[in-house]
Amino acid sequence: MKCILILGDGMADEQIPELGGKTPLEYAKTPNLDRMAQEGACGMLHTIPDGFEAGSDIANMSILGYAPEKYYTGRGPLEALSMGVDLAPTDVAYRCNIVTVRDEIMADFSAGHISSAEAAELFASLAPAVPRVLLRAGVSYRNLLVVPNGSAADSSAPHDIVGQPIAAYLPRNGDADILLSAMAKSREVFAGHPVNVARVRAGKLPATQIWPWSGGRRPAFPSFFEKYHRRGGMISAVDLLNGIARCAGMEVIKVPGATGYFDTDYMAKARYALDAIRRLDFVYVHIEAPDEAGHEGSIEEKVRAIENVDRVAGAIRAEFDGIIAVLPDHPTPIRIKTHSREPVPFVVTGKGTDSCTQFSEKEAQSGMLGTRKATELLSFLFA
Ligand SMILES: [Zn+2]
Repeated sequence: MKCILILGDGMADEQIPELGGKTPLEYAKTPNLDRMAQEGACGMLHTIPDGFEAGSDIANMSILGYAPEKYYTGRGPLEALSMGVDLAPTDVAYRCNIVTVRDEIMADFSAGHISSAEAAELFASLAPAVPRVLLRAGVSYRNLLVVPNGSAADSSAPHDIVGQPIAAYLPRNGDADILLSAMAKSREVFAGHPVNVARVRAGKLPATQIWPWSGGRRPAFPSFFEKYHRRGGMISAVDLLNGIARCAGMEVIKVPGATGYFDTDYMAKARYALDAIRRLDFVYVHIEAPDEAGHEGSIEEKVRAIENVDRVAGAIRAEFDGIIAVLPDHPTPIRIKTHSREPVPFVVTGKGTDSCTQFSEKEAQSGMLGTRKATELLSFLFA
């Protein structure tokens, strides 16, 4: 049986007073997801193993069946892979955000969702000033820094320290000296840069510096086919997810109009998934927007993003009669504007029917599929 998994990044949440005590999943109009809950079955998934941070990398690796305890080496190397950067075995790759720091406080982990073109321009100016590292511009604020013959520094995710003084969270150990000097150079080069002059004039946040984090060497996954004897594909606008897919030898399916933000072309993702599942056995459709809404603390955008995930599920259901699973990778509660490690609800069609009537955090707790480890999900779907 073929299978399509729809991943609404950060969809799960908490009860919100502004939504009458409902969660965004409960409040949003999701007729397709609710029908899946009625006709299919629900359960809960532990996606973040103990001792790991509640990152999308950890959660999505787990869902694909690659236990982070065994395979995780950091977000940087996975993203490097997705950007086509061929890491030498001794290279250490870091995710390198472009951020806004004001008065030594992390004001914005994305420099106001800086555009890819602006990021590329800033990196081009910075590169000659930091010869000990390799810089690669990616999508928006998500860029890459590689230290040849490096040793991974301890680092902090910038989205976890918004509003806090950065001094306590600067890189430590390993490559820390190299990173700190590159960060200092970026402050000099970015200050007064034409990109920032234009941004400030347009009322946008300036990009004040780089913030490298989650560095590591390239991971060694067994291939998806070796593991499951199925051909898998990935649809995502986010480098991280494409990097995980490349590590797993999955087909990376590029969808024009997929942005990883609220303006993504949702229906194109559904069309490309339906097209890909004709030649593949499994397609993972990743939708980033609910997570972005959670990080921004926007209830309205989160509800809208969930309703768009519902439309994708509806379009896929209308034309695909294999197994369909819908789930978040982790909650990104509006209240805390970052990821949490609570178990997430999932719904599956074609694996029996239980008494759930709605796809929600609360109802899935009484679903017949019980609470499971994410690393066992695909084996269950393929069984
Ligand atoms: Zn995520």
